[in-house]
Amino acid sequence: MKKIVVGIDLGTTHSLVAYRREDGHVEVIPDRDGRVLLPSVVALSKDGVRVGWSARERINDPETTVIYAAKRLMGRSFEETENDRSHVSYPVVDWNGSPAIPDPSRNRALTPPEVGALILKELRTRAEEALGQSVSDAVVTVPAYFNDGQRQATKDAGTLAGLNVLRIINEPTAAALAYGLGSGKDGLFAVFDLGGGTFDFSLLDIRKGIFEVRATNGDTHLGGEDFDRAITEEWFRISPKLASLAKRPEVRDLLRKEAERAKIALSSKTKVEVALPAAGFRSTLTRDRLNELVAPFVERTLACVRNALSDSGSTTGDVDGVILVGGSTRFPRFKEAVGTFFGKPLFDTVDPDLVVAEGAAVQADILSGRRKDLLLLDVTPLSLGIETIGGVTSTLIPRNTTVPAQAKELFTTYVDGQTNVDIHVLQGEREMAKDNRSLARFTLAGIPPLPAGTPRIEVTFQIDANGILEVTAREQTTGKTSNVVIHPSYGLGKEDVRDLLKEAFAHVQEDFATRLLADARTEAQTVLNATLRALGRVKEDILPETDRTAILHQVDLMKAAMEGTDGRKVRDETQALDKLTQPLAERLMNQSISNALAGMALPKEDDTNA
Ligand code: ADP
Ligand code: MG
Repeated sequence: MKKIVVGIDLGTTHSLVAYRREDGHVEVIPDRDGRVLLPSVVALSKDGVRVGWSARERINDPETTVIYAAKRLMGRSFEETENDRSHVSYPVVDWNGSPAIPDPSRNRALTPPEVGALILKELRTRAEEALGQSVSDAVVTVPAYFNDGQRQATKDAGTLAGLNVLRIINEPTAAALAYGLGSGKDGLFAVFDLGGGTFDFSLLDIRKGIFEVRATNGDTHLGGEDFDRAITEEWFRISPKLASLAKRPEVRDLLRKEAERAKIALSSKTKVEVALPAAGFRSTLTRDRLNELVAPFVERTLACVRNALSDSGSTTGDVDGVILVGGSTRFPRFKEAVGTFFGKPLFDTVDPDLVVAEGAAVQADILSGRRKDLLLLDVTPLSLGIETIGGVTSTLIPRNTTVPAQAKELFTTYVDGQTNVDIHVLQGEREMAKDNRSLARFTLAGIPPLPAGTPRIEVTFQIDANGILEVTAREQTTGKTSNVVIHPSYGLGKEDVRDLLKEAFAHVQEDFATRLLADARTEAQTVLNATLRALGRVKEDILPETDRTAILHQVDLMKAAMEGTDGRKVRDETQALDKLTQPLAERLMNQSISNALAGMALPKEDDTNA
């Protein structure tokens, strides 16, 4: 039997698993009860761990810890998750700098990748039962703005679930694949993803099988749940009694469910009756009224869209189509608003709850080697490099390089006898290291003590198909190696990528000048060191006093220039010193040759042939 690779949408609210059948049809795999969605919920209690629907039912059980929306915590530091922690009702503790959820009955804490693993395992089991074969290979989707750390954490979740994650792909890319984009159909596509609690907008440039995310924007706290809340608040206005009853969590939860039911019904009806006899409440909600209630949310999504367009320097006219993703885009008001805003065809024929999983399955199928017609490549969103002398950035992998990719470069020491080098890995477009994002630092120790500039240190950057970076430094004579896999690179949000690019563009000129100065100072320092060393070694008789004075005078001029900020001046003074010391270098050479000759006899002719 051919090995099947599955596609998984690991969502904030729901997760799904899909695969591509032999006949080419993509199928989202249901559970035994025929449900395709799996709530991304894990419940911890004395009687065990539950995942999915049964976990969600426990939401009001005081004896159970119900973990939901753990995706928001994935691959981030405890500090960074402060805002998200305040939005959840379960406790989150600081576990060596990472967030973790205590499991009191088992005396341990679960990290977000472990929570993700439980969900993935459930999906894996579901797939194995449905397919009647073991499933180990998968493609998993993540939001386009996920940084290296968040992607790595998602991959870790897969590994913990016994899955071999062949690739992590962006959710908007998956949605586009589900619509068959990328094989022949090129263009700029907007992906509008409004889920339960998050809104993600991406502009996807598809050209010759390369999917490039041109811009992302969104709101990590905007989604269907806000509409549900707006509905319950409306009810509280109508009935103060209901409002006071809702102080009890189980009532609040019931109302929330009722509100969601009403909202969903209003996608196909124009009016719905709501009756809560126990609370003596009865009311009618119309679609028109719901449209009014969601108007501020519609406006917020469109504001994000406008920002993404302006960041990427495009207009609605450049967009070839809009893909609708996420359960909340079923609500007619959103379709209308998006359709009117873009005036472009909407891709809405694939179920918006399933479209990401289906696209992941398409990619999975490609990776299983069954399809040769479509080649999918991803690119690095920002440049990657290291800090070199003078605090400048040396780029190894430029932005927009298709991954997987590898780059090597040789570096050396800067101080005589230096036995350690610090490798500082950077991400970003700025010339100076301090202006870029610091991804990691590590040390290569045990370099043989040699004069500056002699050791050869090879630095290799290897970035895999998931954008996970491994940096290795190797000293070539000893073979000493040190490396780092870049992993929790905390704090790079979707806005950050955009801001970093914008900043780089805004600072091009001044960065150029700063870089010129830094490079010129480095060069000047090297020439200065060499000059002082030579002056110390050269014998009086071969360097006239006037020459020595002239050199020292130029040294002072160069030092003064180095104190200043004009890179060109530093370079000119350095060149002048270089020129002045040229004869000195020649004399030194002669001096050492005659020294050498004086101390040794020339070999006899027959010896040289021996
Ligand atoms: P996520 O990607 O965050 O896991 P989903 O894409 O599964 O989220 O979307 C879930 C949201 O979609 C929920 O808030 C749900 O109420 C909402 N939803 C589902 N169907 C409809 C509908 N017909 N009309 C409006 N909202 C809907
Ligand atoms: Mg989603």
